[in-house]
Amino acid sequence: MGCLGCGRQQTNNQLCHDCYRWQQKGKKLLNHTALYQYNDAMRQFMQQYKFNGDYDLRVIFNCVLSQKINILNADIIVPIPVSDHTMVTRGFNQTTGLIEGIQYEQLLKVSAGQKSHQSQFNRKIRMMRKQPFMLIEQVSLEGKEILLVDDVYTTGNTLYHAADLLYECGAKNVKSISLSR
Ligand SMILES: [Zn+2]
Repeated sequence: MGCLGCGRQQTNNQLCHDCYRWQQKGKKLLNHTALYQYNDAMRQFMQQYKFNGDYDLRVIFNCVLSQKINILNADIIVPIPVSDHTMVTRGFNQTTGLIEGIQYEQLLKVSAGQKSHQSQFNRKIRMMRKQPFMLIEQVSLEGKEILLVDDVYTTGNTLYHAADLLYECGAKNVKSISLSR
């Protein structure tokens, strides 16, 4: 059982609180797929991979993530970007690392002055934040099915903001997937 909108584990398959709020805000639900729960093991993995910068760990979930992405059968795969600041300090985008070998298009970037990692903000603040992304260049996504990819789904804030930009480019539908939720 899980939330229909985001795959959150729960005892029914109604929309969870966060998804209900996105819907109330007029967002088209992402029908998010999460491969794993964000449990202690996943927290440790993320700590080691993302924050301690052990880039070799990117390959661990590559196969299972690739299979799932293939099944979802989107026209264009779009990873969530990291900020320039993160690229300098971390040295890599943890999301593109996870999907190495899969053809994707980096259509988005983090707007100048934004930090893409949101760990320092609490949940409520994250849901109220303004658009953190911009398009790298204007593209037409007319009629396209887009799949957004992120490492961890927390409130949906990141993905819903990214989806807004893709819908503005004419995307027919935007779905999302993350390693964990
Ligand atoms: Zn949900």
